[in-house]
Amino acid sequence: MKAVMKPGTGLKEIGMVLAAAELEGLSAYVVRDGDSVAVCMPGACGAEFESRISRLPGVESAAAFARGFKIVSREFRSGNTVVNVSGVRIGDGGTVIIAGPCAVESREQLMRSAELMRECGAHMLRGGAYKPRSSPYSFQGLKEEGLRILSEARERFGMPIVTEVMSPSDVPIVAEHADMLQVGSRNMQNTALLEALGSAGRPVLLKRGMMSTVEELLLAAEYIASAGNRSIVLCERGIRTFEHVTRNTLDVAAVAVLKDLSHLPVIVDPSHATGRRKYVKAAALAGVAAGADGLLVEAHPSPEDALCDGEQSLSPPEFADLCASVQRVAEAVRPAGSRGVGGEL
Ligand code: PEP
Ligand code: MN
Repeated sequence: MKAVMKPGTGLKEIGMVLAAAELEGLSAYVVRDGDSVAVCMPGACGAEFESRISRLPGVESAAAFARGFKIVSREFRSGNTVVNVSGVRIGDGGTVIIAGPCAVESREQLMRSAELMRECGAHMLRGGAYKPRSSPYSFQGLKEEGLRILSEARERFGMPIVTEVMSPSDVPIVAEHADMLQVGSRNMQNTALLEALGSAGRPVLLKRGMMSTVEELLLAAEYIASAGNRSIVLCERGIRTFEHVTRNTLDVAAVAVLKDLSHLPVIVDPSHATGRRKYVKAAALAGVAAGADGLLVEAHPSPEDALCDGEQSLSPPEFADLCASVQRVAEAVRPAGSRGVGGEL
């Protein structure tokens, strides 16, 4: 439920709503949105409580949230959330580019990747240390060694790191090394993992499940937010459809829908969405044109040698070309005066 306070209401009245919520066993958030103040209580409550709250002094209106996702909804907060990943601000009007190989394969490969990605204008470095592979016989990632290599690259090249975490028990070790924790498509509905990320102390990059609806993605984000972490970036990475010319189908309209329903930043992963290098740029530009706050792109110093997802990884010149085109599309679609791509963040 959201209780909107009358303009100019004092702390005493807000305190009365908070006390009523506490008595009911509900968590409550005081949300300031421009000039208005509201107390949001996302937990389940009945009509009797709602009517009791609406009669408290200082309360202008009290109404239930329209949908199951509450903290992450625009009803909770009408302004955009900016997620700060060690100084890189996602959702602040610019187009943040996160790039790197699918997997950390070796120290040399990752250092070379970081150097090339930075040269081309990427703001953050990606690379999987724990890899959720379809086959148990495929390369599973370097795990803790991979995390140490990522940490070293961050220190050396000054780029924040995002890497995937697959199990609740790995959250502390991944959070120790990474600036941002990625939840992969296959784990979007792993509620134990989502809850563990509530107290990870790091921003989360939440990828849409390949067979999940937009609403299910937002409910997954709600798990993390209700467990205590509101630094969440949503990622559209393509969904499974009957179409096989691409690995998945980029749901580009989902970017606009997510921006409409949620205050959280939204980025697009054109690499897993298409699965084929030659279509990555088109999907990336479509995502930016649709209003994405950034891109997650797989690029590799030599894609033909990649141990994982080489077919969809861009070569360094292809990645440089993509960054230049993204800049042009971002300039064309952003309102005048907003931030661009690159070091302006
Ligand atoms: C990845 O980013 O490398 C990855 C495994 O992505 P997804 O979870 O979207 O398949
Ligand atoms: Mn990959």
